[in-house]
Parts: sequence; structure tokens; C-alpha cells
Amino acid sequence: MKVFRSKSAVRAQLADWRPAPIVLVPTMGFLHEGHLSLMRLARERAGSEGRVVASIFVNPTQFGPGEDFDSYPRDEARDFDLLRAEGMDAVFSPEADEIYDPQAETIVETTELGKVLIGKLRPGHFRGVATIVTKLFNIIRPDAAIFGQKDYQQLAVIRTIVRDLDMDIEIIGAPIQREADGLAMSSRNVRLSPEDRAAAPVLARALDEAETMAPTGITASRLRSHVRARLEAEPRARVQSVDIRDAATLTPVSGSLTRPAVILLAVSFGQVFVIDNRVVYPAQEVP
Ligand code: AMP
Repeated sequence: MKVFRSKSAVRAQLADWRPAPIVLVPTMGFLHEGHLSLMRLARERAGSEGRVVASIFVNPTQFGPGEDFDSYPRDEARDFDLLRAEGMDAVFSPEADEIYDPQAETIVETTELGKVLIGKLRPGHFRGVATIVTKLFNIIRPDAAIFGQKDYQQLAVIRTIVRDLDMDIEIIGAPIQREADGLAMSSRNVRLSPEDRAAAPVLARALDEAETMAPTGITASRLRSHVRARLEAEPRARVQSVDIRDAATLTPVSGSLTRPAVILLAVSFGQVFVIDNRVVYPAQEVP
């Protein structure tokens, strides 16, 4: 596996590899089984001819003031070992000053989608995400890129910029990988105290119940109240948001569900921000 620190070096290598298809998996590192499932999907998608590239970049512009940029966990040597074991061809792991020109003045922003839900809790977050993903796409020029459904709104933002800016890149969403007790895997989970770690599976349990209730004809607002009450019954959980949205468009839903909906949760445990989601179905659409 080749390690690249500079845009010019990774570009030169990719020029050499093309026209083999290139599949990119962007990450912020401190890899876990969720990330590795994306790497496997990338390898599968690239086929025997293709090349798979991971990026590791803790992107400062998607963290707000007072968020966890400085304390975000990092372990590059371990990450490289894991990527090598997955058969990745290359990893692009630049420093921030390689990525951002001090004179930079261009941003990429979805004007509506980036401002709702998590965009409301973390103002500017999706502007940072949209800008770095666009930059990575321009540097690597992948044929396909893989993102986890764990970050459901992020995936929607990326599909939107690809559509709106005519990027010729296939975006592939990958299922959420979970710990044995249901907690969605996340690099941030290591920062949970033992007590908070024990409490955090409440998100997955609330989503399990909601998934069972959705096909009964329950209204979106009752379902939302049930999930919120379930989370609030856990004293360690500080519920930031519970939303039920159309799974395809992320627009609000009301009344009984008639189409697939996604339940989006954001909950803090101490200083740690935990998110999870589940697509649920009305009776006539249970897959
Ligand atoms: P991150 O390093 O947290 O920015 O995540 C990099 C990519 O891995 C994103 O596309 C995430 O959605 C995805 N990812 C993170 N956690 C999981 C998980 N538990 N299951 C599936 N994908 C995940």
C-alpha cells in the first residue's frame, strides 16, 4: 500500500493507474470495523482491475468552535496496518496546510439541506464536509466513492453536491455496522466513559422499537414522542434531537407513514456526540 502526503504525489500515482477504475473511501481515521466494511465494499466495487484509495484527514473546517477537533482520536500507524490488511492500494493522509491554501476563499454549501437537523446543531459542519469532499473528489477524481449510512444526512448532502455540480462520480451508501450490543460503531465511542458506554446502546434499542412500531399505522409524531421518551428515560443521555423525515428527501413527514421514513437521533453523553438512524417502513412497504 502506498502512502501519500501531498496532492501532487497522489495525483501522479493515479495518472499512472488510470484508466483502471478508482474507488475512494474518505475517512477521518481511527478506523473501526464500520470503516473497514466500506473498504471491503470498495475492493469489491473496484474489481480485480480497479484501484482502491482511502483518505485519512481530520478536517478542521467541519468542526465548530468548542467541538472536539483537538481531542478527536488519531492513530495513523494502526490505521495504515488495518488498511494494508484490507488490500487497499493507497492511502492519502495529508496535513491541513497541504489541503487548505491560506488564501482560500471558495466554499461548497448545500443551501437548505446543510442547515437543518445536524446542520442546526452544528452550524457550518456540512459546509466543511461539502468543501472537503469536493476537494478530495477533485484531487483523486474517483469513479465511485463510498460513504456510510451512519452519517445519513452527510450522505444526502454528498449526493446533492454531486447532482448539483455535475460530478461524474457514483456515490455508494453502505450499511451501519454495530457493536454486539447495538451501538453504532464510531471513532468517538472510545471517548465515552464506561458508564456512558454502557448507556449508549439506548439509541439502538429505541430505533429497534420504532422499527417494529412503524408498520402499525402509528403517526410520525407519536412515533417521535415514543422514541424521545425512551431516550429520556436514560439519565446519562442528553437528547439533542429526534427527527422523523422522508427517507429519500429528508423533508418532514406528518400523519401515518405512507413512504419509508428515517428516524434520526443525536444524543450527547458527557462531551461525546453520538448519532444513529434507522430507515423504517409503513406496512405496505416493509421490504
Ligand atoms: P468518519 O471517519 O467518521 O468521517 O467516517 C468515515 C466514513 O465511514 C463515513 O462515510 C462514515 O459514514 C462511515 N462510517 C462511520 N461509522 C460507520 C459505521 N458504524 N458503519 C458504517 N459506516 C460508518
